[in-house]
Parts: sequence; structure tokens; C-alpha cells
Amino acid sequence: MNGFNYDKDADGVVTITMDMEGPVNSMSPAFQPLLEEAVSKLEAENDLKGVILTSAKSTFFAGGDLKTLVQATPENAEDFFNNVEAIKAIFRRMEKMPVPFVAAINGAALGGGLELALACNYRIAWDSKAVQIGFPEVTLGLLPGGGGVVKGIYLMGLMGANEYLIEGKRVAPSKAQQAGLIHETVSSLDELLPRAKAWLVENSDNEAASVQPWDTQGYKIPGGNANNPQVAQMLPAATAMLYQKTRGLMPAPSKILDVATSALRVDFDTAMRIESRNFTALAQTAVAKNMITAFFFQMNQVNGGASRPKNIEPQVTKKVGILGAGMMGQGIAYVSAMAGIEVVLKDISQEAADKGKAYSEQLLNKRVAKGRMNEEKAGAVLALITPTADNDALSGCDLIIEAVFENIKLKHQITEELEPYLAEGGVWGSNTSTLPITELAEASKNAENFIGIHFFSPVDKMPLVEIIVGEKTSDAALAKAFDYTKQIRKTPIVVNDSLGFFTSRTFGTYIDEGTRLLSEGLHPVKIDNLGKAVGMPVGPLAVFDEVSLELNRKADETWAEMGVRDKWGDGSVTRGVVSTMINDHGRGGRYHGGGFYEYREDGSKTIWPGLYDLFYKPEVAIADQDIRDRLLFRQVIEALKCLETNVLRTVADGNIGSIMGIGAPVWTGGLIQFVNTYGLAQFTARCDELAAAYGDRFHAPGIVAEKLAAGELFA
Ligand code: NAD
Repeated sequence: MNGFNYDKDADGVVTITMDMEGPVNSMSPAFQPLLEEAVSKLEAENDLKGVILTSAKSTFFAGGDLKTLVQATPENAEDFFNNVEAIKAIFRRMEKMPVPFVAAINGAALGGGLELALACNYRIAWDSKAVQIGFPEVTLGLLPGGGGVVKGIYLMGLMGANEYLIEGKRVAPSKAQQAGLIHETVSSLDELLPRAKAWLVENSDNEAASVQPWDTQGYKIPGGNANNPQVAQMLPAATAMLYQKTRGLMPAPSKILDVATSALRVDFDTAMRIESRNFTALAQTAVAKNMITAFFFQMNQVNGGASRPKNIEPQVTKKVGILGAGMMGQGIAYVSAMAGIEVVLKDISQEAADKGKAYSEQLLNKRVAKGRMNEEKAGAVLALITPTADNDALSGCDLIIEAVFENIKLKHQITEELEPYLAEGGVWGSNTSTLPITELAEASKNAENFIGIHFFSPVDKMPLVEIIVGEKTSDAALAKAFDYTKQIRKTPIVVNDSLGFFTSRTFGTYIDEGTRLLSEGLHPVKIDNLGKAVGMPVGPLAVFDEVSLELNRKADETWAEMGVRDKWGDGSVTRGVVSTMINDHGRGGRYHGGGFYEYREDGSKTIWPGLYDLFYKPEVAIADQDIRDRLLFRQVIEALKCLETNVLRTVADGNIGSIMGIGAPVWTGGLIQFVNTYGLAQFTARCDELAAAYGDRFHAPGIVAEKLAAGELFA
């Protein structure tokens, strides 16, 4: 049999080893016929004692076929539903056979992979870091449609299944065992198949071993079904709580809850059919297409090195110098040391450098306290960081990243002074958030080795690094920065040089539009609430306070000096508001004692009352949808302009960068993908409406018309 190896031993145990064409086993079109053929053959055996299902690949089974899933349309919905039901029917045939099936899980069993394992009576997994178990479907806008939701509820109950089904949590085998998803673990891969066989032998006379819990008479779902008073009370609250969390923007979690509720109310097979129906509906949504595109295909593209120059050997960073032990420098030191890289953390005084290192100590202590690291390891990480005020300590660094104040003169000065300490062929990176790399590189003797390595705050939490290629930056320097980013386990996007690059420039439009709405007289709470309603993590005024109005003023002044102020659009409205806030009222943002908001000691905040007197006009009414669209479309338009002018090198970098760097709503699949499912023509029309009502900044960039004329999407 091609793809599934079928091997029957003398004891009547059949081992099916899945080895499908391609790198992984998955629910590709080849899967169903293979499984059907294997199950038919098993059903025809007459002295069968048991079945072991395992894999010849490094993963057990990779799950659904996303290439097919992303093509679901209302036109093919019926076929889609029938296919799902057909696969589930084969799973049911396995479950109805009078002999037990064991899943011998040798590698990741996620999504459809776990569902296949759940069609087996007993699940044993190799307890290794290489093995992950869970239902990640929700993170792609889908639900586990191969029985995962219903069986998850049968095995773990509503409460227990929540984090797996609705949050998409993936766990190690030992944790999956505690949760009730699998039965047993083995500590080495060599033990896996012998143990599976031994279990079958132990249970050869045990009829119950071949009956699934959902087919067992009198079986009780953990925590009870919908008739249980506690569950009955919980269900309506769960719906409301979920809505609060997703803001109604994510269809998958609420459909999962619907199916889970059905599993508590109706019989197993009916619940399974309801699951298939909801899965079919979800697969057609724009949100699912957006999330699959961004979080699967484009994330793989970005992390797989599509933007890394080819033909350059992998570059390993051994010793990194970090200049400036402030907020950013201390975070960069921590993530570098965590990756095992030797770090020289330099500031203008030993005291300032020590303070920067103390930040790592704090984070490491927290890890130890939480049991996530032992003291010895934490000590070893900390020992990698040398805080200093001495230039000589930088000798031999193969990478230096400067994170000193955002001031072009200072950055030029330290480049001239400290570049000579780089090891032969070493690379100089700047963590500037706005200044053009090409201009910064003017102070360098090796501009080809000069690059932007833009981190996000807080560095230890934010997963993205934006790498900026200056006019003279070489491929070798780009490869070095790219590989360093991977070394510290972050996701690198690569963009071309431009004022504000991609992320800061695009993010700036969100803040600008929020500030414009304020100056037009809209209620500040409404502005921030509608920013969140669109799916941004924080409202525009609140986030402006966080990055600080003061920083905005400084950047604006620097740009004025450089003659590039308002290069990307009229900033006068925001400039006016910022000036009033800072110059007239001393409100520079959270760090500066308060801005649009007042901050209390307990961490809570309220709108600064002066804001109402200054800006609020109760008579001003703007439709909610217009407010939402203004806040979102400004960012989308700016991202498209970045693509049009080649600041963005790829659509994938734009989508992943916008979600991971600036918090673009996940349901959009990224600021550019948003246009694909909104519809290019509809997007243009809506831009025209917004432009007519609110100004030229809303006109769709020409690249949209070009794509439309070519009949293409942004891919
Ligand atoms: P910060 O003010 O917290 O830290 C700057 C540090 O640089 C200070 O500790 C200062 O003593 C030190 N320094 C100044 N001159 C020095 C010199 N000659 N040699 C060594 N150290 C020197 O600033 P920050 O927020 O960490 O920002 C640093 C850089 O990172 C800036 O370019 C900023 O634009 C960029 N950045 C900031 C953020 C953010 O969210 N804060 C995000 C991305 C990038």
C-alpha cells in the first residue's frame, strides 16, 4: 500500500505506519482513500487482535490540508461538508471494530493529527520536546472538525477543554496525559512500539478496551452535561465572557463554544454532525482565510528565510556588544544572553550598565521563582552579560547593536568612535525606531556592514524584529542580522530603508487618526473603545500615552531639522494637539506623569478631565463604522504605500510585521491581507467614500487599482 505500511505479526497485531508522500502525513486528498483501504483490510481480517497506528515521519500526523481548506467557498460547501463527514465515518468504523486501536504517537499530533489519534482507543506518546499535542485550529480561524471538539468535551468536560479548544493551547505529552487527552507516555522512542504491543496483549481479553468512552453506556462527561445545574448556569455566562474577549471579531471561538454546548446537549453522533456543519461554515469565512494565509503560509515563508539572501553560509553570532543599557538595550542584552550569546552591555557609566544588567537578573529570578528555569542555568545566563563603561571590552564583538538616545548626532558620534572595535567583518546594527539607516551609515567606514535591527518594547515579550536594509547594506550583513534574529528566537521581517521604515510609519497613522478624531471633538472614550472594537489591542489615545507624546514631539523636531517633517502626510493636527498637551498643560504621556489619561498608583487610569474642556464637542456625531474604518484604513493605506514604494519587500513581511509588531487585528490576517478578503474593488470604493467625507489621506494607493486591473490579489 502506497503511503500506509500495513504489517501483521504472528500475534494478530497489525501495525499501520503512515508514510505519506511529502514531508508529513496530512489530510491531503490522498489521506481518505489510504485510510479507507487500510480500515477495509482490517475489517476483513479474521484473527485480528489489535491495531497500532504510528508514523514513519518525525511528526505523527500534521492535520488538515490547509491548501484545500483555504479554498472553501459557499459553492463547494456541500462537497466540503460531505468530505468531512466521510473521514469521520471512517474514524467511526475504526471505533466500532471489536479490537482495540492504539495510537503510538512518535511526534507532533496537532489538530487533525490528534483527531486521528482520538479515533484510537488508547494513546501512548513519546514524552519528548519534539512531541506537541493540541488543537491549534482556533489560531487559524477554524475549529477541530474531525471530532476534536466533541471528543474533547467528552474527555475533558467543558471547563477542562476550554484552554485546548478555545485557546488552542499545545502541550507536552505529560500535560496532555494529565488533561485526559492521552493515556500514557514513554520516555524513549524505542519503547513506544513495544509498549503499544504490550498494552494490546494485556488487554486481549478486555472487551471494554475496544469501546470508546462516548460509546460506553453510562459514561459521564467530566463536570457533567447540560443538565448539570452548574453547567447550565455556566453556559450563558461563557458566551458573554467569550464575546468580551473576542469583541465579536472572531467567529471560530464562538462556533467552538456552540459545538461544545451541543456536545453537552445532544447525542454523540448528532453533535459530530453539528461539528462538521460549523466547521464547513467557518472554513468559508474571510477571517479563516486571513488567518490561515498569515499564520500558516506567510509565517512559514517569513520564518523559513524567504527574505534572507541565499548562498550565504549560516552566520552565528558569538559576542554581541550592546550600546546603551536603557529600556531597549537591557532587553536586547537579556534575549541575547538567553540564546547563549556572550554580551557586552555598555553605557556611559558603570552604574548605568550595571542597572541594565540588573534587569536581566530580575527577569531570570522571576523564571526561577516560577520553576521555569533552575538557578544554575539562570546564573549561567547572567554570567554571559558583562556590564561596562569601557570601550575596550567591545573588542572582538562580531555584532554591535546601538540603542542609545534617538539622536542622529549622538548615533554618528558613537559609530565613528566604536566601530573600530568590531571584529573583522563584524556587523553594526542600529536599533533606531525612526532614523533612516542610510543616513546613520554615513558615519560608518563600512556602510555595507551597517544595518537596522529594530526591536519592539518590551523586548523580552515582543516576538518581532524589523531588519532595515540601507542603500549600501550588503547581503552578508543582512544574513548576519537575519540569523542573529533567529538565534534569539524572534521573527525577522526585512524591509528597505525609509523614514519610519514600515512599522513605525504605519503605526504612526493609527495614532494620528485617533488624535484627529479627538481634535474634531469626538468623545475620547469612544475613540479608544472603537480602536479596540476594530481589534487593535489598545485604543489610539491610550497607546499614544504609552509611547509618549514627548517622544513624538522629539521625533517631529528631529524630522524638521532633517527637512523631512510631514514627508508621509500632513502631521499638523497631531502636532497641534501634542503642543497644546505638552506646552500648555505639561502632559507628555504616561512616563511623564500623565497624558490623555491620568494614571493611579493601583495601575488603573481615567481620561484626564482637561481633555473634555480642550477638545470634546458633544454635538459632533460621526458614525461608528466611519470611526472604525478611519482607524483601520489609515493603517492599511500606509502599509499599501510601503508595498508600492518598495519599503516592504514582500506582502508576507507586511502582514506578519503588522500583526506582530504593531498589533494589527489578527482577524485581518495583516494589514495587506485585509484588502484581499475585503475585496479590492470594495476597498477602493470605501476609500473613496472616506476620502470624500474626511480628506485625501483616504484615497486608495495606485497599487490597488493595478492589482485589480491585473485580476490579482496581494500575495
Ligand atoms: P533609553 O533612554 O531608555 O536608553 C538609552 C540609553 O543609552 C541610556 O541608558 C543612556 O545612558 C545610554 N547612552 C547614551 N549615550 C550613550 C553612549 N554614548 N554610549 C553608551 N550609552 C549611551 O532609550 P530607549 O527607549 O532604550 O531607546 C534607545 C534606542 O532604541 C533609540 O534609538 C530608540 O529610538 C530605539 N527604540 C526605542 C523603542 C521604545 O519603545 N522605547 C522601541 C524601538 C526602538
